[in-house]
Amino acid sequence: MEAKTVHSPALTYFSMLSLLSLCPPFVILLWYTMVHADGSVVQTWNFLKQHGLQGFLEIWPRPSAIAWKIIFVYGAFEAALQLILPGKRVEGPISPTGHRPVYKANGMAAYFVTVVTYISLWWFEIFNPTVVYDHLGEIYSALIFGSLIFCVLLYIKGHVAPSSTDSGSSGNLIIDFYWGMELYPRIGKSFDIKVFTNCRFGMMSWAVLAITYCIKQYEANGKVSDSMLVNTTLMLVYVTKFFWWEAGYWNTMDIAHDRAGFYICWGCLVWVPSIYTSPGMYLVNHPVNLGTQLALYILVTGILCIYINYDCDRQRQEFRRTNGKCKIWGKAPSKIEASYTTTSGETKTSLLLTSGWWGLARHFHYVPEILASFFWTVPALFNHFLAYFYVVYLTILLLDRAKRDDDRCRSKYGKYWKLYCNKVPYKIIPGIY
Ligand code: NDP
Repeated sequence: MEAKTVHSPALTYFSMLSLLSLCPPFVILLWYTMVHADGSVVQTWNFLKQHGLQGFLEIWPRPSAIAWKIIFVYGAFEAALQLILPGKRVEGPISPTGHRPVYKANGMAAYFVTVVTYISLWWFEIFNPTVVYDHLGEIYSALIFGSLIFCVLLYIKGHVAPSSTDSGSSGNLIIDFYWGMELYPRIGKSFDIKVFTNCRFGMMSWAVLAITYCIKQYEANGKVSDSMLVNTTLMLVYVTKFFWWEAGYWNTMDIAHDRAGFYICWGCLVWVPSIYTSPGMYLVNHPVNLGTQLALYILVTGILCIYINYDCDRQRQEFRRTNGKCKIWGKAPSKIEASYTTTSGETKTSLLLTSGWWGLARHFHYVPEILASFFWTVPALFNHFLAYFYVVYLTILLLDRAKRDDDRCRSKYGKYWKLYCNKVPYKIIPGIY
């Protein structure tokens, strides 16, 4: 089957060149600045000004044997949990070619086993997580090169052994490699590669690294600052929420629309472990003392934001799962019955919720998502901007995502989406935008 090209070759080349030339150096420079330059962009800038390209190459850690070992043991452990742990059978959304992927929902169990195992390894002095922190640069470097090899293998698999009908070539090698060929690549019948890269490797590494940073600060100073505690707790609550709702994530754009290519895999295998965890990385050697009251205030507000974000996703899924026969904020939901035509020419209907959180704005759920990231970063206070990089990045990402999703829904639902836009005119922030 020929893949429908949603991205033009020019955009693909530009995007790929930018990603390859800017993001890997950025990951390394961010790590270097956080760990070796006091979190100060100015300090790193001065170093680079003085030492030039040679200095930059000296900063770049080589992927060491221990880094590869850590990545392989972690990856193998997560893959084994994904395969072995029991879980409910869950069906994903029906794809444009009429295929419905089936999953084993064991994310929460995998998360629980991972966290308990990691903390136990430290507690019983079998493996010290500070080793991970001390080789973090080498690990990121190995991930940068490793993910490239991984995506070449994915590309070859897409050509020679696609797992389902939701696959195909655009006829352009770069587009195929970059945006991906398969929507649901699997090894065998049940090992879903996107669940592995996006959830069990990427999102899980967020929790593992958050714990690592906390333990590193404890081992270095003999105590954990309240700012670090707030940061680690909020990030862990967020990742717990993610795994609690993992089967819902399998219905989102990342899984149901974006093919497994370099763009998304690189994001999950490198960008999430490095950039998403960076506020914690910053706090390791910047232990701020907030005082109990302020710490609790930030913690509770952060948890509230994570809860609201969760509730938005839950409301949408509950509404779709029950075919609109549920209560939204205590009342029968208001809705639009939107019909659309699949690529195979079939007419289908989807329900669009127009009350509850989804009646406030079309992508209101991004507001608490961005605020939560602010609340787990603000314990760092305002000495260095770099700690806030993730918040800024996430804001740009979600503004763009709201636009991409709106465009996609407009072309899918046509006049029904227009009706929804008339009823719910704001894109993200009610009354403002
Ligand atoms: P979703 O895919 O969950 O929601 C958008 C989809 O829902 C649309 O494509 C449409 O799909 C359907 N939809 C749209 N409007 C309605 C409505 N009114 N009623 C019912 N269905 C509707 O969004 P995201 O993937 O963007 O977000 C999911 C979660 O992931 C959020 O919590 C978000 O904050 C988080 N997220 C986090 C990111 C991060 O990097 N930290 C990045 C992106 C998301 P359909 O075709 O089925 O109609």
